[in-house]
Amino acid sequence: MESYLAELNEAQRAPVLQKDGAMIVIAGAGSGKTRVLTYRIAYLMSQGVDPFNILSLTFTNKAAREMKNRISKIVGSSEAKNLWMGTFHSIFAKILRFEADKLGYPSNFTIYDTQDSQSVIRAVIKDMRLDKDVYKYKQVYNRISSFKNSLITVKAYFQNPELQEADAMSKKPRMGEIYQAYVERCFKAGAMDFDDLLLKTNELLNRFPEVLHKYQSRFRYILVDEYQDTNHSQYLIVKALSDKFQNICVVGDDAQSIYAFRGANINNILNFQKDYENVEMYRLEQNYRSTKNIVNAANSIIDKNKTKLEKVVWTANDDGPKIVVNRLLTDGEEGRFVASSIFETKMQNQLSNGDFAILYRTNAQSRAMEDALRKRDIPYRIYGGLSFYQRKEIKDILSYLRLLINPKDEEALKRIINFPARGIGQTTMDRLSIAANQYGKSIFEVIENLDHLDLKINKSTRNKLENFVNMIKSFTILSENADAFVVADTVTKKTGLVQEMKKDGTPEGVARIENIEELLNGIRDFVEEQKELADSSGSLAEFLEDVALATDMDKDTSDEDRVALMTIHLAKGLEFPYVYIVGLEEDLFPSAMSMNTRSELEEERRLFYVALTRAETQAYLTYTQSRYRWGKLVDAEASRFIEEIDDQFLDYLVPQDDYKYKPLIDTDIFGEVDKSKLRQTKPKKGTPPPAHKPTEQQLQKLRKLKPAALEPAKATKTVNLAEGNEVEHMRFGKGTVLKIEGAGQDQKAEIDFEHGGIKNLLLRFAKLKVL
Ligand code: ATP
Ligand code: MG
Repeated sequence: MESYLAELNEAQRAPVLQKDGAMIVIAGAGSGKTRVLTYRIAYLMSQGVDPFNILSLTFTNKAAREMKNRISKIVGSSEAKNLWMGTFHSIFAKILRFEADKLGYPSNFTIYDTQDSQSVIRAVIKDMRLDKDVYKYKQVYNRISSFKNSLITVKAYFQNPELQEADAMSKKPRMGEIYQAYVERCFKAGAMDFDDLLLKTNELLNRFPEVLHKYQSRFRYILVDEYQDTNHSQYLIVKALSDKFQNICVVGDDAQSIYAFRGANINNILNFQKDYENVEMYRLEQNYRSTKNIVNAANSIIDKNKTKLEKVVWTANDDGPKIVVNRLLTDGEEGRFVASSIFETKMQNQLSNGDFAILYRTNAQSRAMEDALRKRDIPYRIYGGLSFYQRKEIKDILSYLRLLINPKDEEALKRIINFPARGIGQTTMDRLSIAANQYGKSIFEVIENLDHLDLKINKSTRNKLENFVNMIKSFTILSENADAFVVADTVTKKTGLVQEMKKDGTPEGVARIENIEELLNGIRDFVEEQKELADSSGSLAEFLEDVALATDMDKDTSDEDRVALMTIHLAKGLEFPYVYIVGLEEDLFPSAMSMNTRSELEEERRLFYVALTRAETQAYLTYTQSRYRWGKLVDAEASRFIEEIDDQFLDYLVPQDDYKYKPLIDTDIFGEVDKSKLRQTKPKKGTPPPAHKPTEQQLQKLRKLKPAALEPAKATKTVNLAEGNEVEHMRFGKGTVLKIEGAGQDQKAEIDFEHGGIKNLLLRFAKLKVL
């Protein structure tokens, strides 16, 4: 047996060694599904299958790169170079470039990101003079996106009275017209949005049998990871391409289906056996990733879902430590707890930052975590949110680059035609826009032909426009022979963008210049990598495509050692030794928006299952007692998901009577005391005493590590208070003292506040002003 096959267990080897036919591997988290795909590709190549004939679709491009690296080690890198591996979007963008002319697009079409698409939609809503509070552009964007992912074209929309009625019912009777105008504008700009990459691929394969035939013959072997999260559009592409040879292998876990809200259809996995002939079904049961405690706790969670395929997941790994549960007062405290815990664990076990991940339900939760990590000087990286490529200064430069590749790209043109300022004002732009619409041309073409058009634009403005067009054209000529780095470098210098920012001189201005340097470094790395790994020259067009389709994971290019922060959705498929799942509160996780139906709640539960199963060695679950939400401090309650885990796997970390330990957890910087902390959070029979009660040595350390924010608070003098006094607190406002208890350091007061009701405050922290 080839040595790499020995790195698989028997159940994993079976689907790897079945060379032909349709097969599905259904298995729980961490059981080696991704490994099976990787080794299967290596095996196919060892059996003489040409890498050109293998198509592998993954959830991120980074996952594809990692698989490629592993395969290179097994079969050699010159062969692995030719594999088609990547996300649906990146693979089909490549194919669409080859075939663009058939669909009436230029092969240098731009890929509009979400920001671009939403900006087009905003403009359409404005031009149609619709009420922007009724037609909310993000909602409209999502609606259009869902049409596209269900292959509902504009024409199909207008032929479907039900859809039109639904929009009329939700007070948006003109949705269809917006959809139509949006599609027309994108087409005129030579641009496809993300959903078009799938929709247009479907159109291409449906309308042109010879094209379908060509790609069916090329992709003799097709493999799909995370099949449970494919949407209808992706499903149809896979179905069409694999129809001829039916050599298709999909792997997935119905328990990890978490994208239904974006149209993912779990039936794709359930119906696979009906879609192909002689389907072999494989199951993997052994988890190699996590400890027994984590695997069993995750099993106990997913057991609560009614809609699921029955599966067994077990592990031969150690029991490992129990899952730590901790309740904190506020999100600030939660952040400090997580940061301290990472710091301690790292020191005690000689770990790197990269061994830790913090996972949350919503992006907004990252801020408290960031603050705490920064105070501790722990380097971290946030995935998702506003990405590097969407920052203003970066997008400005990218817009120049996009425009020189595709001069029709209207979103790019509008962004930079007067940046840096060139004296081309809004009135001029409006006139150009109207002319462009009138002639069915792009704004760029209108400017090129100004001399032949009768537009009310004066001589000096005409000159400025002409200079702009000439500058862009000179860049275009340069890009025909130079690589992406040379072009980007020239553009940055010649346009005067950096000089403009230097004038600024503020720290933000300096940061913007640094970002541009980082962009240029990134482009240089890209060019080198392309030349080395992919037999290509690293052209600007290739770079732009890479940027447009980079998923959030892919932006992780540097090797710096950092703690990873991301939403659970992004963490799919990844693994980390230590995982902190924060904000486990009712209405946050499960989300308040997902509690209307059982199926929504079950999707939230699957999301929790995904989160927990990312952990290899230890998982931590935290929740707070009150949290700011929509600008208000609201009481929070522990998530039902914590309750649902079998108690034997949990370790409730609740401060006991050791008051020295309390300030870290028991009071926030505003000095609020948590009364109920004095009892066990969730006293249960058989709950072992907390293994995490700090030893004297740890306490010594913790005292040293007390968050900086607490220090000044601690220094505040005790106020002389009496019952009935009127006081003011920086967060709760004015209040009346109801009762005073204790003495000295431990003196507390019960106060009835205007905002926030009755609070029990530890006076040495409370910073009260007596009125
Ligand atoms: P997920 O559902 O989270 O995507 P998965 O089923 O794809 O998980 P993998 O990521 O392929 O699981 O594997 C989980 C971990 O177990 C990886 O670190 C992998 O290298 C390791 N692993 C898988 N199979 C084996 C094996 N036979 N021997 C040793 N390690 C293994
Ligand atoms: Mg996987």
